[in-house]
Amino acid sequence: MIRLAISADGHVSEPADLWRANLPASLRDRGPRVEVHEGKISMVVENRVIRKLVEASPDMADGSLANIEGWGENDPAARLEALASDGVSGEVLYPTVAFFTAYSIEDGPLQAAVCQVYNDWLVDAFQDPRFVPVALLPAAQPDVCAKELARLAPRGVVAGLLPAHSDALPYNRPEWEVLWETAAGLGVSLSFHAGSGRHQAPVRGPGGAVTNYVVTLTGPVETATLLCAAGILERHPMLRVMMVECGAGWLAWALDAMDESYREHEMFVRPKLAELPSLYFRRQGGVTFQHDVVGVANRAMTGDRCLLWGSDYPHPEGTYPKSREILDEQFEGVAQGSIDAITWRNAVDLYGIATPEGFSADAAK
Ligand code: MN
Repeated sequence: MIRLAISADGHVSEPADLWRANLPASLRDRGPRVEVHEGKISMVVENRVIRKLVEASPDMADGSLANIEGWGENDPAARLEALASDGVSGEVLYPTVAFFTAYSIEDGPLQAAVCQVYNDWLVDAFQDPRFVPVALLPAAQPDVCAKELARLAPRGVVAGLLPAHSDALPYNRPEWEVLWETAAGLGVSLSFHAGSGRHQAPVRGPGGAVTNYVVTLTGPVETATLLCAAGILERHPMLRVMMVECGAGWLAWALDAMDESYREHEMFVRPKLAELPSLYFRRQGGVTFQHDVVGVANRAMTGDRCLLWGSDYPHPEGTYPKSREILDEQFEGVAQGSIDAITWRNAVDLYGIATPEGFSADAAK
């Protein structure tokens, strides 16, 4: 039985004029803005159209994103109402527009300022303890990411967001150490959200959509393995890492494959680790999924602790407004302790998110 559902993956809707209103004057002209291009509401940054979003209707003449269907709820109270109608009591909040916008910016200082404006808005707007606002980190500069986390931690921020891939500066480079160390020291977990850091649709033509979506779900295999095999999680035993919206079915196989590779190709393996690589992910890692019966079925191999359910509200690929039905169906026959861990307890342990009366993470583990 699903007793409580907390979503470890949701997305806010940023106000359309967020950056125009809040960036320092010297950066505002190059900063993100919403414009109509070829009849479509489009995101523009550094004077480039980076994404055409949806058809513009006449009531969007002012560039307002408020009326876009499926764009989701900006007002925290209305958002909680929508969650309640879906049987969800709280959620972890990731960006929508800010996500792909910030990571398409080429100028480091502009990216940092864009993240800062978003983070200040997010933390101010979503103070209710049923929300976990995740800080958007300026991934072009790891040292600036660390400073941003340190700036936000006193305001209660307990999680930071990075791209799923960082090809320009791979995560095993020493420049990232300052962020791993800072996050671990602050007790802030780091999330790698699927669909970022690499081209999302490399395959064109027939079969492209399905192929690209499936391949996106395998992205975390690379990043999760690297965090383990490069010794990052071993060096920072307090660092927690989450692979978000990537499904869970790949995890059991990936954990086994990283250990097999470590053992069987030992002569090429650097650095040597004190334990097999999968131990570090089991100890410090996690994944979120919306609907993944394979991931749920593989619990015997992954354990419960790595698995967190998330609705991905309000995105169309998420489970809203049928989260409870979808949860009931995929957890049928699963032990109550496992259900509780995956649908709410792991999120409470990791983020300290508020629960309704009668649900305590410490009770009856
Ligand atoms: Mn998501």
